Amino acid sequence: MDKEISGKKISEIDVANPKCLNMPFDRFKKIVVGKTVKSVESKGKWIFIKLEGDYVLLFNPGMGADVISFKAGGKLPEKYQLKFVLNDKTGFTIRVWWFCYLHLVQASKLSEHKLTGKLGANPVDKDFTPDHFKQLLAKKKGNIKTFMLDQKNIAGIGNVYIQDMLFCAKIHPQRTIPSLSEKEMQALYESMRSVLNESIQLGGLKYEKDFYGKNGRYGPGQFKIAYKPDKPCPVCHTTIQKIKTGSTSSFICPKCQP
Ligand SMILES: [Zn+2]
Repeated sequence: MDKEISGKKISEIDVANPKCLNMPFDRFKKIVVGKTVKSVESKGKWIFIKLEGDYVLLFNPGMGADVISFKAGGKLPEKYQLKFVLNDKTGFTIRVWWFCYLHLVQASKLSEHKLTGKLGANPVDKDFTPDHFKQLLAKKKGNIKTFMLDQKNIAGIGNVYIQDMLFCAKIHPQRTIPSLSEKEMQALYESMRSVLNESIQLGGLKYEKDFYGKNGRYGPGQFKIAYKPDKPCPVCHTTIQKIKTGSTSSFICPKCQP
């Protein structure tokens, strides 16, 4: 997205669901149309579209969304709720699966934005080191799975990815943080990075689309124990169990993750 739209000017916007905006559509349009995109970045489940003139467009796809580019004169998808047209007549449409947020904020006031201002560390950032991870865990009391899924601690891990991260580190999801050894923290850091990087390399999950409309390739073939109840553990062949952990489900090998 950064490669395709940076440096281009936004010339037209359609919003069929103005409830996703944080201001009336007229005002939103007045500020955004005519602005050049400086860069596009991501953090956690948010896309940050930086615009000239100290503005940032913040997009959160909720349960998921197809954000797909189109060429000048190209065919648009049948269904979408948002459309951005750029000055060279290319652009992108967004089809939201359930709900989304599209907020316009001033860059200087980004830290005050309720939903993104407190986002935690980016787990795939090269500056996010094992020491940084261990510092985050220091003095924390709750259980490790809840901690990892809380976007204020680490931004971007959901219930799909956490399963194999804990399995590869041989940590039960209900272990408390103070009970983790230094070695286990290191193992969890490494599995967190490797699970996410593998998915990124494969273009994301199979049911997700990239900016060109191509589906990801990360799915059950890559999962180790995630969403595989009653199948054998790939390491010790013990039957994988599905258990309830708070408000989420967990998949564990009871032998590898005591
Ligand atoms: Zn096992």
